[in-house]
Amino acid sequence: DKTISLIAAGEVVESPASIVKELIENSIDAKATSIVLEIRDGGKSYIRVTDDGFGIDEADVELAFKRHTTSKITSFTDFCNLYTNGFRGEALASIAAVSRVSITTKTKEAFLGTSLIITGGIIEKKEKVGAKDGTTIIIEDLLYNTPARKNFLKSNQAETSKINDIVERLALINNSVKFKYINNNKVMLTTSSNLTFSESMNNIYNNAYDKSIKELPIEYIDDYGIEGFLGDNSIMSHNRKNQYIFVNKRVVKSKLITSVVEEAYSQFITINRFPIFLINLNVDPALIDVNIHPNKLEVKFSNENKLKDILFNYIKSKLSESIM
Ligand code: ADP
Ligand code: MG
Repeated sequence: DKTISLIAAGEVVESPASIVKELIENSIDAKATSIVLEIRDGGKSYIRVTDDGFGIDEADVELAFKRHTTSKITSFTDFCNLYTNGFRGEALASIAAVSRVSITTKTKEAFLGTSLIITGGIIEKKEKVGAKDGTTIIIEDLLYNTPARKNFLKSNQAETSKINDIVERLALINNSVKFKYINNNKVMLTTSSNLTFSESMNNIYNNAYDKSIKELPIEYIDDYGIEGFLGDNSIMSHNRKNQYIFVNKRVVKSKLITSVVEEAYSQFITINRFPIFLINLNVDPALIDVNIHPNKLEVKFSNENKLKDILFNYIKSKLSESIM
């Protein structure tokens, strides 16, 4: 059983960045309006996420760290109607198996909060504490009990840049949430809430994209609601770092969407560099499968050809309207 939890832990706990992603997604699922992330040493020694979400009941705190317990789905039907980020109920259990975790959490209804310390999956201490509404979770000494895997972590700088990337994506898409991200005592990013996607991009990048990205307000075509922004040809890039793809506001990787959007751009310019864009595709959860890999980054669409056609024509028409 211990072996199983360490193996499964490897799939979710690929890197500090994947932990950051799971924790922030939990905060978003808990309807947080403000999320603060602090990391040290590329997240290897310290990751803290504080949110003002709905917290966890005292009776459920320990349960949250058990494998395959999730408060988010209870049936197969739920699974087909998935709107929350989490659903597998294994992130906290996996993280706790390979680190020192402390959590303090309080629901609005409770007078006191609960704090729990878990080391290598074993509960060391549980107590009632005074606390603000919401949840603070601290992950220390990642992979301290699996030294071989710890050696596979990259340099602090490389791990930090992966964290920067995921935080940026999560901040962009959750544009109704206020984010603050601190790395080794330095504030890396703060966002205000209720910005459009392009405003949010400019918020993060000090208005560097002021005139070069165009907002796409949501448009519904057939089964799909498409929104985001498109960068013009003045901001083509030498990599795909600033291509942001989401499905139902979930961070995903999608070769399909990447190639369709790039192909639409190629109708107007010879692509030897990469366009900058953000696409959030809203689609009935019953028409997608996100449970392909534990990290939930892969997504599979039913009716791929229809999606390709619709997206290609949509992006092409938006580009021809004004951008290029
Ligand atoms: P999942 O997100 O797949 O349900 P996790 O292991 O990430 O599984 O979390 C387990 C459970 O712990 C969640 O279902 C939720 O009930 C609770 N939880 C975790 N983080 C938070 C948070 N920040 N605020 C409120 N509840 C949380
Ligand atoms: Mg989760």
